[in-house]
Parts: sequence; structure tokens; C-alpha cells
Amino acid sequence: KLYNQVQDLKGSIRVYCRVRPFFPGQSNDLSAVENIEGGTITVNILSKNGKGRRSFNFNKIFGPCATQAEVFLDMQPLVRSVLDGYNVCIFAYGQTGSGKTYTMTGPKEITEKSQGVNYRALSDLFLIADQRKDTFHYDVSVQMIEIYNEQVRDLLVTDGTNKRYPLPVYLILFGFVYNNRKIRSSSQKGLSVPDASLVPVSSTIDVIELMNLGQRNRAVGATALNDRSSRSHSCLTVHVQGRDLTSGAILRGCMHLVDLAGSERVDKSEATGDRLKEAQHINKSLSALGDVIASLAQKNSHVPYRNSKLTQLLQDSLGGQAKTLMFVHISPEYDAIGETISTLKFAERVA
Ligand code: ADP
Ligand code: MG
Repeated sequence: KLYNQVQDLKGSIRVYCRVRPFFPGQSNDLSAVENIEGGTITVNILSKNGKGRRSFNFNKIFGPCATQAEVFLDMQPLVRSVLDGYNVCIFAYGQTGSGKTYTMTGPKEITEKSQGVNYRALSDLFLIADQRKDTFHYDVSVQMIEIYNEQVRDLLVTDGTNKRYPLPVYLILFGFVYNNRKIRSSSQKGLSVPDASLVPVSSTIDVIELMNLGQRNRAVGATALNDRSSRSHSCLTVHVQGRDLTSGAILRGCMHLVDLAGSERVDKSEATGDRLKEAQHINKSLSALGDVIASLAQKNSHVPYRNSKLTQLLQDSLGGQAKTLMFVHISPEYDAIGETISTLKFAERVA
């Protein structure tokens, strides 16, 4: 008990920052980022008195040249702690186009080198589970959901509720097989996303196929002009159950990998109808998340979990013994400085 309290005092909220590189052909003369040194990032700001600078401190900062492998290396201990029974939340925060999906999933065409955190995390879990196979037996299963306008949608179903156009036959077959294998979470204890399909996985290949299915489902409902992915939160949850082969003791841990909706402010004078409603939901849920993490960081006795769907769902995995990583993303362009400053301020508040 005392040990737990000591652990609590140490705090388990980390904040990382990553700066996206300029796009090919862009000039970096107009960079908003002046300097990155250790855990300090300095940005150029335009103030009333002309040009100014502002520095922010985080646990870790990745510059534009950081590779996916380097980024994952720093997150690896966190990911591995799931196998020891910890709950972990990793959030990618930032304006649309700042590189959240790149970090979590990868670019459009994913190669082994450009694979994001979620693939690497699962491969790593399988690797460690295999290394421990003489002492532990691990069961791994995943859920994938999307939160759009405070509504939760299961991304791993193919039963028709998510479909607007026919899915390719192989996906239907795949979904059928997996739906038959799925365990209803209501019958399981300690699941944080009730009623979403929980799919057992045993290899990285299983995971890649499932993520493709999830991405496919996510794209449904979006049109070219109306890419919903930037305005919804997507969450990949990995549940791990380990059984000690000698004592029979059971360990449970879970990890939530969350690609948040774009944090940019929508101009109220321009947005109307659905766009305005979406913007208000995003605004509300991101600030609710900020409030929860900030009050955990400050060890407040009251943590306002109930103010958004996202924080409600993740309640059991935020605070207590759980470990949280807020990974904020910024664009390098000077044009984006307004959003960059507000992202860095958000991150500073939860650090
Ligand atoms: P977001 O999910 O925040 O909207 P994306 O991850 O889609 O942003 O990134 C926007 C574009 O920038 C994509 O084309 C992506 O591949 C590219 N990109 C983002 N981060 C990096 C990076 N670190 N290295 C190379 N390309 C990147
Ligand atoms: Mg994205």
C-alpha cells in the first residue's frame, strides 16, 4: 500500500512533443521553431512589440529528423509495462496536418520503416510475450473505436451498421470470421469500452489486417470533401491478460492508443450547422481531456472524468496506477504559429 502511494507521488504523466518536417519543396525559411535543445523548444512568436520568442519544456522533444524507430524507442518501456499489468494511455494531440496519424499509424503508404507506434507496440508485445513464454502465458485482444460528436462507433464490425457501400468480399469474410470469434465485452470484467468488438490476436499479421479493417470502416461516412477522420477521435485498445504458469496468478493490463481529433479552432463566423456542432464537440472533449490530465498531474482529489465520452471511456486507464503519455504534434510553418502556441500551451498545462 505504501509502495503504491509512493508510486502515485512520483506521478505517471509524461508529455512529449514532435515537430513535423517541412513538406518536400517547402522552404524552411519560414520556420516557427527557433531551437530545440534537450527538453526545451523555442518558438518564434509575433507579439505586440514585434518578433519575440517563447520556450516550453517537456519530457522529450523530437525534431523533424526523428525517425519512427527513434520515437518508438522512447515509448517502449511504457508499452512493455502493459505486460506487467499496467494500464497505459497514449494520446496524439495537435492540429490537423501536424503528424498525429503519422506517429500513431504511419504515412499513407506504410513501409516497415515508417510503421507507427501502434504496429510497433503490438509487435513488441508479441515479441516480449514470446520471450516470457516459459513463465507466462499471454492473451492479447484488441478493440478499435471512433468517437464522433460524442457518439462511440465500433470500427471492428462488419455487420452492416457501419456500411454505406459494399465492402470488398475479402473484408466481409474477414469480418465474419472475426465477428464469430469476438467476445462480448459485457461478459468480461474491467473493459473500458463496453460493447465494442473485442478481437483476439496472436500475431502482428492479425493486427495489421484488423487495423486495415478499422481504417476501412473509419473511412465509411467520409467523403473526399468531408474527411471525418480529422474530426473524430480514434482509439485502438489492446487488452493483455497474463497468467503466471507456476502460481496461476492473473495479470491484466490494457493500452489505449488514441489519435485525437484535430485541435484547431474553427472560426465561428465561418462554421455553421454540422461543422459548428462538430467543432463544439471536439473543443469540449479536448478541453475535458486537458482538465482530467491537468488535475491528475496536480494530484487533485476531484478528477472531472464525466465531462466527455473520451474521458468517461478511459476513466479506469487514467489516474491511479495508470501511465499516461500526452504526445503533442506541431507543424513547422510560421503560418501555423497560432495553433502551435495553443498546442504548446495545452501541453504545458498538463505537464
Ligand atoms: P494529422 O493526423 O495530425 O492530421 P498526418 O499524420 O496526416 O497529420 O500528417 C500530415 C502529412 O504530413 C502526411 O502526409 C504525413 O505523412 C506527413 N508527415 C507527418 N509527420 C511526418 C514526419 N514526421 N515525417 C514525414 N512525414 C510526416
Ligand atoms: Mg490524422
